[in-house]
Amino acid sequence: MNPLSDRTRLIASATQRGRGRRPVNPPVERASTMLSDKTASMRDETLGPVYGLEGTGTAHALRHALADLERAADVFLVPSGLAAITVPILALTRPGDEVLTTDALYGPSRRFLTRHMAARGVTTRFHPAGADARQVAEMITDRTKLILIESPASLTFEMLDVPALATAARARSVLTVMDNTWGAGLAFRPLAHGVDVSAQAVTKYVSGHSDLLMGSMAVDAPAIRRAVADAIEDMGWHVSPDDASLALRGLRTMTLRMAEQARSALLVAAWLQARPEVSRVLYPPLTGSVGHALWKRDFTGASALMGVVMRGGNTQDAQAFLDALSLFGLGYSWGGFESLITHETGQMDWRKQKPDLEGELIRIHVGLEDPADLIADLEVGLTAWRTQQDSNLQHPA
Ligand SMILES: *Cc1c(COP(=O)(O)O)cnc(C)c1O
Repeated sequence: MNPLSDRTRLIASATQRGRGRRPVNPPVERASTMLSDKTASMRDETLGPVYGLEGTGTAHALRHALADLERAADVFLVPSGLAAITVPILALTRPGDEVLTTDALYGPSRRFLTRHMAARGVTTRFHPAGADARQVAEMITDRTKLILIESPASLTFEMLDVPALATAARARSVLTVMDNTWGAGLAFRPLAHGVDVSAQAVTKYVSGHSDLLMGSMAVDAPAIRRAVADAIEDMGWHVSPDDASLALRGLRTMTLRMAEQARSALLVAAWLQARPEVSRVLYPPLTGSVGHALWKRDFTGASALMGVVMRGGNTQDAQAFLDALSLFGLGYSWGGFESLITHETGQMDWRKQKPDLEGELIRIHVGLEDPADLIADLEVGLTAWRTQQDSNLQHPA
């Protein structure tokens, strides 16, 4: 038989035969305490989890489906996407080790490295956001234990040559962890490209409905599997069965949502790129965008998250633009069914090298609305941007 497509596979794992009469969806099993029949069997793990902290059947069904998605030996769940980045770093580094990562790293991951890990003797070196695999590999030292990869990077969307980087890291016995939230385990599969841990915020596309927080880590190698499992056990992380059930529900429709949102995002990106108010759209699937060649080579799909570099402007202009919109929600996070927009103000200051941007930086997430309606809404926003710019000229600060 032909290998099943992802779209089929994510559903076939629900309807698999041979499991007896049962509901399509696994029941939500809420438990701290698990009961046994006999004292002698209380610790028998072949009978199922001994204690709720190990996760009940609901979480196990989600782990199983995510492992199938990521083509991984195992997937572990933690209470947020951020925890899916912090757990493997805690599990795989020791005092004196060094982590190498991009200067355009997701802000909270960066804060974890520079505040929490630095205070515990693990230092971090940042490579330029636009570095190629050779330049990153040249920064590996005897102390480098782990490379934390994020591609495309946060806010400025630079792409890394992940297969080349994973190969270079392996040659030096350096581990690799990838924040693959943008690729979502569907548009890009880190493990197949030689990465050791594929982490993602389930919060985003797997959930798809902006109503839960969760992270996952997909792993293959037995030693890494054990290290991550031990770290979760030692720290006492757990995800609620209700959230696991919602994430599993989201996962069944993820291929369709992601494909549709990526199609709309490309239309919105191309429209914005042609506007005089816009200098550049940072969206690797868009021809001419930063990272397009690597995206085309390695990715089979896309998220609908992009950056928009305006032509000049200031905070007031950006606020006028965003406040004039009615369809784009003003909120953080992304991956849900709804379109969102934010104005980037603070996090660029954290970087070693501030990117050279021609104007204000806006971040857009395209949802499942009709793209023609979204474009009409953005047109209203850009008119407000221009009006605000004109009034700046008439009343200079
Ligand atoms: C949202 C996000 C996270 C963190 O996910 P949370 O569930 O919000 O903690 C990590 N990395 C990237 C790239 C993200 O966009």
